[in-house]
Amino acid sequence: MSERPPSVDALARSLADTGLPHPLLVDVARSAIADGAPGDARRLAEELQRRLLQPVVNATGVLLHTNMGRAPWPTSVTARATNLELDLTTGQRGSRQAHVGALFARLCGAEAAMVVNNCASAVLLVLAALAHRRGVAVSRSELVEIGGSFRVPDVMEQSGARLVEVGTTNRTRRADYAKALEDHPDLALALKVHQSNYRIVGFTEATEIAELADLGVPLVADIGSGLLDSACQWLRDGPPAWLAGEPAARQTLEAGADLVTFSADKLLGGPQAGIIAGSGDLIDRCARHPLARALRPGGLVLASLQDLAMVYLRRDGSAIPFWQMATWNVDELRSRARALGVGTVTDMDAVPGGGTLPGVTIASAGVAVPGDHTAALRAGFAGGPPIVARVVEGQTLVDLRTVDPVDDPVVAAAIGALP
Ligand SMILES: *Cc1c(COP(=O)(O)O)cnc(C)c1O
Repeated sequence: MSERPPSVDALARSLADTGLPHPLLVDVARSAIADGAPGDARRLAEELQRRLLQPVVNATGVLLHTNMGRAPWPTSVTARATNLELDLTTGQRGSRQAHVGALFARLCGAEAAMVVNNCASAVLLVLAALAHRRGVAVSRSELVEIGGSFRVPDVMEQSGARLVEVGTTNRTRRADYAKALEDHPDLALALKVHQSNYRIVGFTEATEIAELADLGVPLVADIGSGLLDSACQWLRDGPPAWLAGEPAARQTLEAGADLVTFSADKLLGGPQAGIIAGSGDLIDRCARHPLARALRPGGLVLASLQDLAMVYLRRDGSAIPFWQMATWNVDELRSRARALGVGTVTDMDAVPGGGTLPGVTIASAGVAVPGDHTAALRAGFAGGPPIVARVVEGQTLVDLRTVDPVDDPVVAAAIGALP
């Protein structure tokens, strides 16, 4: 005689210690019983828990890992109301763009700046607000796809602007843009898009921002990666060598771009957002466009960006986790690796990631453990956060460049517990 299956409710109650809300446990219990395997219910509940959004330790050596939210940056949360759209000096309605926009304008040396949800939104808004039903000149070498299906021609189409391709895949000159302006009297903008995640090498020629500054139409530069200033005054030792050649917002505007667009969660090191900075008049037109409402960021993101802007204004790069990761010297990483007391201390290569600086590696160090232990590390140890590592040539590599030192003990314990 077969045993009677437990009731859904009783099974769900027996999983209460997982901390999941009862309705989710009921779903799990029902599904396990339907499969004729009530004994699997606990495993299903644990899997459900692991699919929830949660903090993880990034030990991959990819500094801006898109699957792990790119740059890590803490959010400050208050249960109080905020003056999101209230001007405290007058008591009148204010703009949510005013607080943070002004700080980023200051940081970029721009007249004005505004914030949207991400850089893709920034480009979409600029094109919709400034070039609807008109032409936009883009070099054929810059019709890029950034991961996650951001394709310049598609964004252009969605914005209602018309793409005017100029030059060739490998060579584009100022004369090509000038000719486009001649052939297309309705040309509204010239758009330069940073080749963030690819390079064209060999017989190439690209047009500098400065050469296009006096073209006769506003020049927009989508620099994408969000480096604020190539001098990196917020770093004690100046910019790391591997950043060389990366466009920066301040210098791009100085060279003559009317607007720059960039992500906040790449080299800026902040939360997901997109920033548009430059001419006050053009920013005004973007802010007044109906899409600005649809693409506006929430108060949480604005508060966290404001914190970040203040840190940059204080030139305190050490308070920005991304720049801390980016500037560890290898000796410091080796000694942290030795202090873990587990695995074999090993030199390895980290990468910037996030679709920036293709081909660039950053010397790094961590520990290696023979075999593939990535699944066990992802499960976390003793209730600790999941640890994401990588496997190279049959060894699990734990790269400490991307690990916050406060997590070193957690990493050591998890590796120590591996079979
Ligand atoms: C990354 C990138 C984007 C997209 O930025 P998101 O913030 O991910 O929307 C757009 N343009 C360039 C040049 C980029 O590098």
